[in-house]
Amino acid sequence: MLLRNDNELVLDNSTVSSFRDCRRRALYRYVKDWVTDGPEPASLAFGRGWHNGLDAMYKLFYNTRTESNKLGRVEWNKVKDSDAFIEIMLDTAYKAFLEEWTDAGYPETPSFEDLETDPKRTPIRAKNMFLQYYLDMMHIMDGWELIESEAPFIVPLDDVDTRYWYGGRTDKIIASDEGLWLVEHKTSSLYSKSSGFQPAFVDSFSPNSQVEGYMFALHWLKAQGEIESDLPIAGVIVDAALVHKTQFYFKRIPIYYDERLVQQWHNEVMKYVKEFDHAMATGEWLRNTDSCQGKYGRCQFVDVCRMYPDHNELLANDAPPQGFTERAWTPYVEYANAD
Ligand code: SF4
Repeated sequence: MLLRNDNELVLDNSTVSSFRDCRRRALYRYVKDWVTDGPEPASLAFGRGWHNGLDAMYKLFYNTRTESNKLGRVEWNKVKDSDAFIEIMLDTAYKAFLEEWTDAGYPETPSFEDLETDPKRTPIRAKNMFLQYYLDMMHIMDGWELIESEAPFIVPLDDVDTRYWYGGRTDKIIASDEGLWLVEHKTSSLYSKSSGFQPAFVDSFSPNSQVEGYMFALHWLKAQGEIESDLPIAGVIVDAALVHKTQFYFKRIPIYYDERLVQQWHNEVMKYVKEFDHAMATGEWLRNTDSCQGKYGRCQFVDVCRMYPDHNELLANDAPPQGFTERAWTPYVEYANAD
């Protein structure tokens, strides 16, 4: 959550989703910025490393294509399949992965105990995933133009009222024969022997508040000329990668742009941001105890809620509770600073 100029409230998908599930959790995580002290979960560090690696890989791919094409299309066709180029792509992606991974406190070479705890999330596994991803994707990527990579955004939620804004970060915006796509990279360990990913994972992207919100943002950015393209908006491609200790699997899940989806998302998000604003003004952040045990495990604030059923007592300390530290969540912060 960000308060810009003291009177502009910027919320992102994670904050709104959290608020929808449990207002108290949104207060602790996104207003107070509290997270459990200690190493970040390996799943988050691995996911960030994967994004960073793909960012480096995509930039290198399209920059090299531009340069090679100056010598002719035949030259580029030779380059993109060559072992030497694949090796450079792999090294570049791996280096970018390691920046995030080691920054989060994880070693490049895992210990025996690390491997026993999580054998599927290791740097060498990530490297092999980058190789398989490139082999799987190079011809598809070659049919695309890269418009943006890892671009933060903040867009208004109202044409007149300047109080409410929606922020986020698009992984890629690409142009294809079908139009403009927003590509969102996702990693998941929800493996199915028969279909690669479990159906629950694949189905979770439609309907989906992030996908619909990003369609809204893409529409606004294009209408404002912030994305220079005459192409129509095609939608969002979820670019999913399986994280597994032996299997490789990648799947692109297209969600086509639909004005009705975006309109419905907008109606709902306006309601939630106004309720969020009201909670900030009144200090009323209700618990939802049905959300304490979620599909990704238990809420990190369970012990806090047990010890402090009334959050006012805790907030009076003006410091994170024991075992927590402050870490702000602002995926769009560079955009805010550039304004
Ligand atoms: S423990 Fe339960 S009530 Fe407390 S913040 Fe988490 S989800 Fe909400």
